Amino acid sequence: MLNGQARNKFLIECGQAMAGRPFFLEAQDGGPRSRRVKSIVEARQTLKPSYAHDLLEAKQQLQGKMQVLEETAAEAIEAADVCRKDASNVRQSTEALITVGEVREADNLALVRETSDLKQELRKARHVAHELEIAVRCAICCSKRADTVLMPCKHVCCCQTCWARVSEENNMLAPCPICRVPVQGWIQMRV
Ligand SMILES: [Zn+2]
Ligand SMILES: [Zn+2]
Repeated sequence: MLNGQARNKFLIECGQAMAGRPFFLEAQDGGPRSRRVKSIVEARQTLKPSYAHDLLEAKQQLQGKMQVLEETAAEAIEAADVCRKDASNVRQSTEALITVGEVREADNLALVRETSDLKQELRKARHVAHELEIAVRCAICCSKRADTVLMPCKHVCCCQTCWARVSEENNMLAPCPICRVPVQGWIQMRV
């Protein structure tokens, strides 16, 4: 350890030798720290060119990577735009298909209702045809079509064969089977 006088002398010498240097003030704290500061400064001066070179290389590499990343990001944005447009087209197509499907479903329902109505009408028409078929059959033989108009009542209820036989059996005085009015003559219809 330096005594007070020697210490002051040392500080003055240091101040003269190191005035203006960055670690000048550090020398006031004592020997070990000033030596450490000095060694750090020297190391920095030695390593600075090498670090600068490494930093420049790293910077260039980073710039290159940044450029690649920016290009990749631009491509990704472009691809995302394309995907967005595709998705929009798909959505529009889907909506159009749903509309077409709804229209077809409505058409199908209408067709089902129409078919049901037509089947019902067909059943009615067959029933009417059956009734007519029965109505125009001969009331005597029930097999041939009634084609004989009885006069004067004009009822049509039997075939010519049956009426000829009935009329002959009754000496041409048979009454009409429907209204019982005496038949004076008969006409065969041409159907
Ligand atoms: Zn008959
Ligand atoms: Zn009659």
